[in-house]
Amino acid sequence: MSWEENVRRVVPYVAGEQPHKEHMIKLNTNECPYPPAPGVARLARQMDCNALRLYPDADTTPLVEALAERYGVNREQVFVGVGSDDVLSLAFLTFFNSGRPILFPDVTYSFYDVWANLYRIPYRTCALDEEWHIQPEDYRQENGGIIFPNPNAPTGVLERLETVEEILRANPDVVVIVDEAYIDFGGVSALPLLETYENLLVVQTFSKSRAMAGLRIGFCIGSEKLIGCLKDVKFSFNSYTMNLPAQVLGVEAVRDDAYFRETTGRIAATRERVKGEMRELGFSFPDSQANFLFVTHRTVPALSIFQALREADIYVRHWDKPRISNFLRVTIGTDEQMDRLLAFLREYLGNRP
Ligand code: PMP
Repeated sequence: MSWEENVRRVVPYVAGEQPHKEHMIKLNTNECPYPPAPGVARLARQMDCNALRLYPDADTTPLVEALAERYGVNREQVFVGVGSDDVLSLAFLTFFNSGRPILFPDVTYSFYDVWANLYRIPYRTCALDEEWHIQPEDYRQENGGIIFPNPNAPTGVLERLETVEEILRANPDVVVIVDEAYIDFGGVSALPLLETYENLLVVQTFSKSRAMAGLRIGFCIGSEKLIGCLKDVKFSFNSYTMNLPAQVLGVEAVRDDAYFRETTGRIAATRERVKGEMRELGFSFPDSQANFLFVTHRTVPALSIFQALREADIYVRHWDKPRISNFLRVTIGTDEQMDRLLAFLREYLGNRP
């Protein structure tokens, strides 16, 4: 027998490219264009490197406490991981274990089917409607769990809390995960529904609205029971995942709420302005409440625009996938970055025969 027959074969997730060019405009992986809260840099400079001799706190206690206080829950309801990808991956492993198919939208975060395949979880996708909205009745079929981002990625479309609750009400026997990676740019979080639904898990990240994609911090909030199950699996897998600097700097980011509101507000304002200008250039898009727009042009193919932008060192995201191959996902950067993008597009689209 060949050892190769026993290998767990998977098709990995493909992340957006991470170029490092001096004058590039990077609008392809939904990072924050502003620096983390000022206290983060201050603390980083003061860090006592002698502390790195020791293992970090496996429970990430100070960060869990800061998040519990910020979101008005108790600390047994909070779980922290190495980016929300880590939290989501562990949640798939922990909660989607029935043998019945889990459900998620046909157009959504492209890591979900990768984790499902990795863990051998059967899944079924439910088609978004013409306006890219979830059709809640699709989530009434038998299933082994449900996950969707809100706002969705890559569309940016926000579902109303009533829709989230309708799905929860119809599914009391499975875990429902709401991936709120982009909730801080204008969405309404499902967190208040935790009081009613023990099977709800809300996942968020520091990578977008807290400008810390490089530090890798994600977290989720749920009932104590749900969080307890997640911890059991985490501590059966790898205890010391979150490094000490991330734990220390993460607390500072959570505490500076004024800066958080200022930067997320600024990004939302830029997004609203760019919506108008993109429309004038012949683009259309669903009404995003995230820190990106999902755009398609009236006449010019998305791939041509993608390639032209790339040659100009402006990076956006394109997927060669059903339903979305004529769309580009454009992260909202600073006003200046967006002006450079718009100027390029104006010229490029204007010069086409
Ligand atoms: N969920 C969604 C919907 C995302 O788009 C992303 C970013 N790729 C993530 C989760 C994961 O982000 P992170 O691991 O940086 O927290």
